[in-house]
Amino acid sequence: MSHSHPCKVIEPADIQASYDAAINENPDNANIATTGSRKKRGVATHSKFWANQRTLKVAFLNPPSDTHREAAIKAIMLWQPSINLNLEFVNGSEGDIRITMEAPLNYSAIGTDATLRGPGENTMNIGTAPDHPWFEAAVLHEFGHALGMEHEHQHPKANIPWNKPAVYEHYWTAFQWSKEEVDHNLFRLLETATARTTAYDPTSIMHYPIPNELTIGDWAVYKNTTISQNDRRLMRKAYPKPD
Ligand SMILES: [Zn+2]
Repeated sequence: MSHSHPCKVIEPADIQASYDAAINENPDNANIATTGSRKKRGVATHSKFWANQRTLKVAFLNPPSDTHREAAIKAIMLWQPSINLNLEFVNGSEGDIRITMEAPLNYSAIGTDATLRGPGENTMNIGTAPDHPWFEAAVLHEFGHALGMEHEHQHPKANIPWNKPAVYEHYWTAFQWSKEEVDHNLFRLLETATARTTAYDPTSIMHYPIPNELTIGDWAVYKNTTISQNDRRLMRKAYPKPD
């Protein structure tokens, strides 16, 4: 099986704008995050969930074939039972989420950071080919970002026994990622309210696969291809349904 490119999130160029967009959309995103005895509010620890119950318009740019589009929609709809958002798949290019599906990279803005993208810009790309066995997993993962989820291997409690030299070597050889890119996308732990609302979950669809040879001792996370129970729990918290 060919390597599927690891996902990178689209980082907001302006952290303050990211914060303002998140709070403007949904004041609950300002959750106070507690780190040990310190309490921090705001910028860089805010979550990025959409307002509950809103309609989220999803558009496809440079429109893919109908079968490609339908395969993506089918995967996206697997999130629907766990969220209280009205997902509307629109024709044309105007959407809150704007998806391109062009090989080979996978990336997405996180939640309300999508509002910081220019109107003609995509907010997500799904580069995994539709006939690839991991296509559905790629869509689930990227749309998880669109719903406000972050990378689970960067959960503050992840505590992964990385073999760092092996990781640098592998990511350089397979994907030409620099040391800085590896530090940023794999080793850096998140402090956001999003990451701390649920326990670390190695079965999350938002976790990178981590082969045993990239860790010290006997430790691995295999490729997760389905939404975990914990993923669904987080989404139900972010987008609760009335009792
Ligand atoms: Zn990702």
